[in-house]
Amino acid sequence: MESLEKLHFTSTVWRPPYEAYSVLLQATVGCSHRRCRFCSLYGDLRFRMATAAEIDADLRIIAGWQPRARRVFLVGANPFVLSYGRLVRLVDRIRDFLPRVRSVGMFARVDDIARKSDAELRDLRARGVTGLSIGTETGDEATLRFMDKGTTAEETLRQCRRLEAAGIEYYVTYMTGLAGAGGGERAARATAALFNRLRPYVVSVVSLTLFPDAALWRDVAEGRFCEAPERERLEELRTFIDSLRIQTVLLADTRSNAVPLSGRLPGDRARLLRELDEALAGFDEPSYVAYRRSIDRL
Ligand code: SF4
Repeated sequence: MESLEKLHFTSTVWRPPYEAYSVLLQATVGCSHRRCRFCSLYGDLRFRMATAAEIDADLRIIAGWQPRARRVFLVGANPFVLSYGRLVRLVDRIRDFLPRVRSVGMFARVDDIARKSDAELRDLRARGVTGLSIGTETGDEATLRFMDKGTTAEETLRQCRRLEAAGIEYYVTYMTGLAGAGGGERAARATAALFNRLRPYVVSVVSLTLFPDAALWRDVAEGRFCEAPERERLEELRTFIDSLRIQTVLLADTRSNAVPLSGRLPGDRARLLRELDEALAGFDEPSYVAYRRSIDRL
């Protein structure tokens, strides 16, 4: 059998925690947008599609050690940027090698969805494309603009509803601290208001953690952005959870979450709020700041 090292993973592989049991296949390299000011996930990597030869070689290796795989997660910042035709050919190719695969998920940007017609979305769903992880980040329009996210909350609403109409399951993210000092309450309410109009299966919460290669790092150094205190981030998260009125799974347990939480809403709301209240009662800003500074990578 060929060795695992030969898979074409060009850079650090990012995948959501709920895709832990999926087979990973690199479909694109880097991000087609590369402008979000807080982001340093893909560094200087230039965006490109994986070549057909790379994909075939990887599928051949995967088929050797996981021939019964049922779920594939496409690696890359936003493989859903690929055209409908390319995605169809890719899914067909995956099934050539892995005939038991039932579904294919990936990261998607909101504008990747917008470029596909309703009929194309429905057809992709029929072919097993479902479980799109969308970096929505916030429902606060001013923050989306400042961060150069390249979309708006209104557009997120429109495109996620198109996914719902096509039967494509999707997961969204919320980043606390992204609105900066003093903006947490506003961002929490705006994001909950947006998500309350949607049906995301999972809401992942992370907290802004800056590294020197992010544009926002320079914004902080040059006074254009003031980072939210750690206490404000917890209060922001509390407002967000308290305001969310949909049935969903809330995951706020990555390294960037100083107080790790997870649960189902609405059933676990009281427990989640209690855990946050306990953290706030014994809160010590310097130790939380020290924790954030100790994070060397996400
Ligand atoms: S946050 Fe996502 S869309 Fe924005 S630059 Fe980073 S990888 Fe690309």
